[in-house]
Amino acid sequence: MDSFTLVIASLLVSGTMALKMLLLYRASAGRAALFDWSLSGLFFFAGNIIGALATKYELSYVLAPALGNVFYVAGHAGILAGVRRHLALRPRYDRLVLLALAVLAMHLLPYVRDSVEHRLFLLTPVVAGINFAVVWLLWRQPDEDARHAYRPLMVLELLFGIQMGLRILYMLANANHDLTFMGSQFLQTSGTLFVLVFLSVVTMSCSLIVTHQQQQALRRASLTDALTGWLNRRALHDIARREFHRCRRTATPLTFLTFDIDHFKSINDRHGHGVGDAAIRHVTALSARVLRGYDAQFRTGGEEFAVLLDGAGASDVQRIAERLRELVAATPLVTQGLSVPMTVSVGVAAARPGDGQWEEVLKRADEAMYFAKKHGRNRVGIHGIDVPAGGAQAFAA
Ligand code: GH3
Ligand code: MG
Ligand code: MG
Repeated sequence: MDSFTLVIASLLVSGTMALKMLLLYRASAGRAALFDWSLSGLFFFAGNIIGALATKYELSYVLAPALGNVFYVAGHAGILAGVRRHLALRPRYDRLVLLALAVLAMHLLPYVRDSVEHRLFLLTPVVAGINFAVVWLLWRQPDEDARHAYRPLMVLELLFGIQMGLRILYMLANANHDLTFMGSQFLQTSGTLFVLVFLSVVTMSCSLIVTHQQQQALRRASLTDALTGWLNRRALHDIARREFHRCRRTATPLTFLTFDIDHFKSINDRHGHGVGDAAIRHVTALSARVLRGYDAQFRTGGEEFAVLLDGAGASDVQRIAERLRELVAATPLVTQGLSVPMTVSVGVAAARPGDGQWEEVLKRADEAMYFAKKHGRNRVGIHGIDVPAGGAQAFAA
């Protein structure tokens, strides 16, 4: 296979990369990393056009190799920019421009003008450095789930960086480069082939990252309440079932704390639905101050909430419940020039050895909360103390 055919194939693949990333960007409502990756495809495309022309015509040194190499490095840097943007870091196009200028300036050196080997010696660490930077950034991500989606790009960038290094070693070991590959000079043919495979796989890998990110966002949205940011009822089912069985296995206490805003209808009626919504957000924001950050917090209804506490003893949970009640009562909602006093009724119930399902614990916490409602509101009801425990002993110590 002649190198012209390979360069044309790379040209088509990089053009496809630029177009696919651009179309995905337009369809994705602003996942800007896709724009960076589209730009990267465009840089590779431009580099390949120069490469294709260079196999047929005598081009000026400024065009080939100088500008060709600048586009080639910029293509790799574009992938890095997209990865940075995906990870909510600045894409650093300022550095990309500086790097491009440095690569261009490098071609003025007589040492670089001299031979293609010298150019490779200098460009290899630059490109491999970018490849390894991509791997490093993705590797550092703590999100185990997302790392599955990053793996193809990490492996690809790692292999590409390694093959760049191996090519240098090969050059050093074979001074006369007489080996051929697919009918042409080995180094050039294998290099172009590698770029061709790289461009195909990088397109797939980047699409995979964005698809996975969108799936995660959808999943998060389907489990989250939009008004408060707390988990919703659907999430309650999954999480409570899992935690209930885990606590059973490990004999850890599991407690539900539920609360409901008192006389909420009158807040809505007097001040309107907007203030009602603000009151709901106000209460969840206050609760976050007294609840432990790692306990799962759910909005189970209009102005009803449940918190699942595992590993906390009964007295700890009672203290948390009392602090929550006090804080809400002491902190009126201030909005639109109004000061709206609020209170909550809280219920607490711990899992008991005889419980077969988490729903039984939640039901008892609700009973305790209704007890608090019935006995004056703005108070805490404890199942097993305020509401008769029904014979079985509390599971939490
Ligand atoms: P109680 O002290 O017995 O709890 O009395 P209450 O008035 O708070 O009664 P209840 O808990 O039954 O009130 C529920 C009300 O919450 C009814 C509904 O209009 C309102 N509501 C439900 N969801 C929302 C919401 O998302 N926003 C607003 N503003 N109101 C909501
Ligand atoms: Mg209420
Ligand atoms: Mg209610």
